[in-house]
Amino acid sequence: MANLSPPTKTLGVTLLHKCNFHCAHCGYLYVDESEDHDLKPGYRMTWDQIQRVIADCNSIENEIFSFVINGGEPTLWEEGDLTFIDVLLAVAGGNIHPTYNTNGSYFVDYAQCHEFLHRYAEESEISLMTFVSIDKFHDNYDREKGRAEILDNVVRVLDEMPVEKRDLHRVHVVSIVSKDPNSFLPSEMKEHYGASGITFGDFPMQPIGRAKELMDEMPDSEEFFKNMPPPPKNDKLSYPIGTLLGEYYLHKGKKVAKLGNLNDLIAIAAAGV
Ligand code: SF4
Repeated sequence: MANLSPPTKTLGVTLLHKCNFHCAHCGYLYVDESEDHDLKPGYRMTWDQIQRVIADCNSIENEIFSFVINGGEPTLWEEGDLTFIDVLLAVAGGNIHPTYNTNGSYFVDYAQCHEFLHRYAEESEISLMTFVSIDKFHDNYDREKGRAEILDNVVRVLDEMPVEKRDLHRVHVVSIVSKDPNSFLPSEMKEHYGASGITFGDFPMQPIGRAKELMDEMPDSEEFFKNMPPPPKNDKLSYPIGTLLGEYYLHKGKKVAKLGNLNDLIAIAAAGV
């Protein structure tokens, strides 16, 4: 029986360096050796590493983890017969709450979208958060009609599910916006999909990776965030980890522990060493 308590800790998990899009603003991919980031071409977490990070998090008492899974494009992950849905089900099966960021391309195929969302709902008891990037940089919506095929398919599939299964899925659209007022998704589009429970949020383009070539379009992030609540103050007891990249946990870009040693890291942090 899954523990359905809300997560108390979040870990970023970088699954692979691979994408089927070539966005002009991409922070990490298609920038040669990605000098801004440790993620390098050819990188892919193995199934064994995925099993080990789940076990690592489960070895920490009194914490429920949430994973934020990124790439590249995580739906492109595969190993033998295993695909990305197997990763999500393994994470949820380990009592960890999965969240992932996608460009949505996997859901353009209705049958594929149906199989993916149904399989998750049939085989898991823990909710799944899908963040889909839809904006002018990803160029994956019809600007004339104010519709996205990805979202049409997701809405159709979720509408066909029994309520208790549908409730396991949350879908949030992230739009990267620039100075250009036309970079925002149309309000009517947000209202249309919002009526089906899909939520939307804008995020300013950041001057990292390839986006550095678009400085004339760069919005003022400070201005953008000024009316938002401040981030929570640093919790002295918080763990010094942020992301897992292959064999290492990273915090603020520095390697802080090897995969398999999360417990040791936490013991050191708790002792204030
Ligand atoms: S979809 Fe994301 S990872 Fe892929 S090229 Fe675009 S910004 Fe980069």
